[in-house]
Amino acid sequence: MLTKVFYSFLSRHHSLQFVFVKRRNAFFNYFQSPRQPIPPYNHVCQIGDPVLRTRAEPVEPEILATAQFKGFVEHLISIMRSHEAYGLAAPQIGVSAQIFAIETTKQQIEECIKTKSAGQPLEIVPLTVFINPKMKIIDYHTNSYPESCASVFGYIAHVPRAKTIEIQALDITGKEFTWNGHGWPAKIVQHEMDHLQGKLFTDRMDPKTFACAIWSVVNQRSGRVAIKFYPDPGRWGRFKRIFS
Ligand SMILES: [Zn+2]
Repeated sequence: MLTKVFYSFLSRHHSLQFVFVKRRNAFFNYFQSPRQPIPPYNHVCQIGDPVLRTRAEPVEPEILATAQFKGFVEHLISIMRSHEAYGLAAPQIGVSAQIFAIETTKQQIEECIKTKSAGQPLEIVPLTVFINPKMKIIDYHTNSYPESCASVFGYIAHVPRAKTIEIQALDITGKEFTWNGHGWPAKIVQHEMDHLQGKLFTDRMDPKTFACAIWSVVNQRSGRVAIKFYPDPGRWGRFKRIFS
């Protein structure tokens, strides 16, 4: 009865009704909407996000010694590993800074051999972090092999990459180092260098080779396939992000 009277009162006083509805919505939104995450994210940004099209800022050398910076680099590495990426650049987790990490493990190579998914010669690459890197191409001849990206997840394309490169960068202690790469590691580093320039592999690919990485699975499963944009521990103990 009281409620009925209250609503009839509100219907006669539109401005009050508006305030009431607005406050009620704010109350429900607070509990129902997930809080907006802030960078650095635990997920990988996807193509279309402006942060992936922005030229990343150099890192000020004085912040390298801070605990926050070390924590950020550890976070970048953990997201790279949890997404089973061979490399990850800071803009991919929402931070427009000139930092990236690379790593290819024996386990990743064995998995590629088992699933016949590599399509190119792979090699073990130790974990390396590059800060404010500068690239010099040593051998301009190119290899064109399939390439994918955690920010264009679910798609692949052939991308020509210079065979041999040299990088000058800072390590996490702020020490300068020179890194030389040929073939597989050179390709990963060129991909990550592009991220720092706001470029994606789709800008450099042979467009006719652009493909959904699981197009044949889509046919096998009559389209009942989902791609997850977050890591999910599968029953085999590895992260499986494509399933039906
Ligand atoms: Zn990428």
